[in-house]
Amino acid sequence: MIEYYRFYEVESLISQGKLKEAAEELRSLQKLYLELSQENSKLKVQLHELEEILSISRNIIFDGDAYWLISGGEKQGPFCPKCYHANGDLIRMHVYKKDEFNLKTKWVCPHCSFSAEPDVDLDTGKAPSQRAKIIPFMQ
Ligand SMILES: [Zn+2]
Repeated sequence: MIEYYRFYEVESLISQGKLKEAAEELRSLQKLYLELSQENSKLKVQLHELEEILSISRNIIFDGDAYWLISGGEKQGPFCPKCYHANGDLIRMHVYKKDEFNLKTKWVCPHCSFSAEPDVDLDTGKAPSQRAKIIPFMQ
């Protein structure tokens, strides 16, 4: 912390003609200023990291199978719940279609191999029973 009164001391030393002492005091203040600038930069980086963590925690949702991040109005994911719970890592799971009609998908984490078989199709966001139209076979 720079004590503001020290600048007045420099001014006083100069007015008294003590230029050598004033220059010494200015070098000391310069060193303090550089230390404060470095600390300020470090704190700004920490603040940015914490703001990102806070933003993620406010925009992440769990649908029962995986985590999803809402960013810019878009739903991104699925992210592995096991990795997120272990250390907060958002690892995007690979999506595999299980059948030719894309009615079932399987999500697999490339990091920990956790897998989920959600009952929701990624293309429609609806469970197969919700998007299927039931056509009576016979009346
Ligand atoms: Zn994982």
